[in-house]
Amino acid sequence: MDAASFRRSGHDLVDWIADYLESPERYPVLSQVAPHAIRSALGAAPPDEGEPFERIFADFERILVPGLTHWNHPGFLAYFPSTGSGPGILGECLAAALNQQAMLWRTSPAATELEQVVLDWLRQLIDLPPGFDGVIYDTASISTFHALAAAREHAVPGVMLHGLAARSLPPLRVYCSEQAHSSVDKAVIALGLGKSGLRKIAVDELFQMRPEALADAITRDRADGCLPVAVVATVGTTSTTSVDPVPALADICARERVWLHVDAAYAGVAAMLASHKDVLHGAERAESVVVNPHKWLFTPMDLSALYARRMDVLRAAFALTPEYLQTSDGPDARNLMDYGIPLGRRFRALKLWMVLRSFGRRGIEAHLLRHIELARRFAEWVDAHPHFTRVAPVRFSVVCFRWTPAVEPAALNRLNAALLDAVNRTGDVFLSQTILDGHVTLRLAIGHERTMIEHVERAWTLLQEHASRLHAGAG
Ligand SMILES: *Cc1c(COP(=O)(O)O)cnc(C)c1O
Repeated sequence: MDAASFRRSGHDLVDWIADYLESPERYPVLSQVAPHAIRSALGAAPPDEGEPFERIFADFERILVPGLTHWNHPGFLAYFPSTGSGPGILGECLAAALNQQAMLWRTSPAATELEQVVLDWLRQLIDLPPGFDGVIYDTASISTFHALAAAREHAVPGVMLHGLAARSLPPLRVYCSEQAHSSVDKAVIALGLGKSGLRKIAVDELFQMRPEALADAITRDRADGCLPVAVVATVGTTSTTSVDPVPALADICARERVWLHVDAAYAGVAAMLASHKDVLHGAERAESVVVNPHKWLFTPMDLSALYARRMDVLRAAFALTPEYLQTSDGPDARNLMDYGIPLGRRFRALKLWMVLRSFGRRGIEAHLLRHIELARRFAEWVDAHPHFTRVAPVRFSVVCFRWTPAVEPAALNRLNAALLDAVNRTGDVFLSQTILDGHVTLRLAIGHERTMIEHVERAWTLLQEHASRLHAGAG
């Protein structure tokens, strides 16, 4: 592709993106294709001859666009929404163009140092103390994996050298609540602790970890000869956004000398708000904290920030320098490859820098407050309706509720699942579900930059319409 063709196709592409961002509502938010439809429409064999970009792009529009679920649609109210904001998208484009690979300081001083600067800005925004340093990974799952690897290294120094099998170690134990994210399970699997090495601690009626249950579990494990390694507290659980009592958990971890990791992937950014300062209380005493700007901070996938007070432990768990990567840059030059598994690293910090500068603290706060207010409005409608029931407090921008018509209770799970499908099939909004206490629960999550009151109203109207239709059909 020569410069002239790049320029021409690039301009066309930016026009296409601008149109897309202006009106993603021309597409159904949840893709309506059937499994395999996309695969069978694409060529089965690779091309022998090169093709012009226009033709490739035409196939993108014709074949791939119908298979997109539009995370940038303002009716996206499922899971935790993520916004590819304008400045974030431009930052991502530029990062692709520059193709930086920041494994060593010298392979990209700018990417290495900008990463430290944006992490420090975000740290200040959410008011973590200056003792926290950090590193950027792709996802919270990988951040938590690295935090727990550091915890393991801390508890049994030298695991890096000898492995788990080579020594007669006691069984290692990690603790999280029943409501913690499955990434904690995956981390213990990958770290060789086994799923039975993870203790799921009971929650109270607000879905928050019970500190006394944690203390009991640790005492019991010690009596059985196990070694407690880490506690994962969640600030903003994935199902209900409940917040574990981090100060009480930090007390237990201090007493037991156990690594405390705080998973604040979604809700951590809310600590920017005066109204929500308390959500990270206690996190200042944690060893590590993860926050995902690609969730509620208008940064396109992917960017997860891991903060740690003991970067030296993280480094001890992973640092090794093969001959071909030795440098003479000295101790002030941070080599990001030393802080985890990946050697190659994308220039992720660039898009976050552009987002933070474009929105500014006030711009971000205004969006977060608006999302929280919209969630409260929706919760009020649910609360006022005789046949809908809210099942968890609304602390941030997620509402968990059930459709509870006067039918056999045994039928409710099936009816709620049917209602969700019916509403999602409209293509106007996309909601997701979870299971709480065995009950299928609907989840409406607000977090997109362009989600406004009309989108939340539309979701509510569709829920009521399809509920009466299903009820009439059932009766
Ligand atoms: C979304 C989420 C994760 C996983 O995030 P990824 O970045 O997709 O790995 C982990 N923990 C919590 C609490 C989450 O909400």
